[in-house]
Parts: sequence; structure tokens; C-alpha cells
Amino acid sequence: MFRLLIVEDEPATAAELATGLTRAGYHTTVAHSGEEALLTVLAQAFDAVVLDVMLPGFSGFEVVRAMRERGCAVPVLFLSALGAVADRVRGLQEGGDDYLVKPFAQSELQARIAALLRRGQPSQAAVPTVIQVGDLTWDPQQQRVTRAGKRLDLTPNELTLVALLLENRGQVVTRSQIARSVWQLEFEPPGNTIDVQVRRLRTKIDDPYDKKLIHTRRGFGYVLEDL
Ligand code: CA
Repeated sequence: MFRLLIVEDEPATAAELATGLTRAGYHTTVAHSGEEALLTVLAQAFDAVVLDVMLPGFSGFEVVRAMRERGCAVPVLFLSALGAVADRVRGLQEGGDDYLVKPFAQSELQARIAALLRRGQPSQAAVPTVIQVGDLTWDPQQQRVTRAGKRLDLTPNELTLVALLLENRGQVVTRSQIARSVWQLEFEPPGNTIDVQVRRLRTKIDDPYDKKLIHTRRGFGYVLEDL
């Protein structure tokens, strides 16, 4: 069964979409904001995302850009009341795969989703392949992290953090980079939030193993490397 993530902030529209697509035989999950959408799509496997553009906080455009930056290639169908050519072009430029202007018929939505799923994952060329550091591997398409062949069960924040460290393997990742990636903050979160987040990741990635891969660079940040 294909899994769809529906992102729509208006509860009635979200419910209507979920009902229609569930009836059409899809397994549906609903997110009501851009933040929730991003966390959900990075944490779980989906075959396609139906993404409203006008959302509180992160817009649909920002969500798809953040997804693509993190190597998430799930096809995206934008839904928007913004029907101008410029809006549609922007949606596709940001990494969307199709664009449907509201209001639309359920039958057209379903036909377009089916076409998207048939085409597979058009953004595949831009997707990085599996990244490996020592015996730690990250498969961005599957959103799967393994160490010594064992799959690690990570929360969305832990997944974002380890992806950031892996993308920058061998280089120091600063605390402000972590704040931006994990919490979308332009400043460091108060207290020891970052340290706690790194500690949690270490309990899963490093603690059970003799060889430590996450190293602290005091005053600078953290580096992931196989020394
Ligand atoms: Ca909306």
C-alpha cells in the first residue's frame, strides 16, 4: 500500500483529503504545519507528499527545500490556491514534482498522485548515495542509519543531527549549525539543549561501541570522524 503524507493546515480540508485518499486505497498520514511535515517526512517512509503551500510558519516551498537539502527525495505534489504561473514555476524550482491549483476535483488529485508514483522518484539524480564513516552508515533515501549493520532507532531530531554530522564528516559542525538544522533557530537555544541533544545521540551511536565517532571540539562544536 502506498503511503501518503498530507500536509494541510485547514482541518476540514485535511480531513477531506485524508478521507478521499484513504478511500482510494492509500495509507494516509496528516501533518498540519510545515514543521510537523518536515519532522514526519524525515522520520518515516512515504511514497509521496501532498503539500499545501500556504502554511503557518514554514511554507510548503520551505518544507520541500529543507527536505531536498537533507537528501529526502520523496515526490511532492503541491496544492495551492496560488495559481499564477510564477507560483507554479517556483513550486517546481524548489524541488516539487507537480502542482495542482485549488479548487480541484478529487479525481484529478488521485490521477496526479498515481502519475507521480508511476514516475518513481524524479529527483533521484540529486540524491546523495549512502554515506559511511567507519561502520556508521546513513541511507538518505531510506532515512536509515545503521552502525555495525544494526539499524538505529532515532528520533527526528537525532536523525537531523546525525545527518548534519555525516554530511560534514571530518569537519567541525558548529553549535549554531546544529541550532539551525535541528530547531531552525538563528541563535543557540538556551541552557544545555544542544549538549543534551548530542548526548542522546551518543547514547545510541557511540555508547554501545568501543570506537567513538562523535568527537567534541570544545568551544567550537562537534566532528564526526573515524580516527
Ligand atoms: Ca493552507
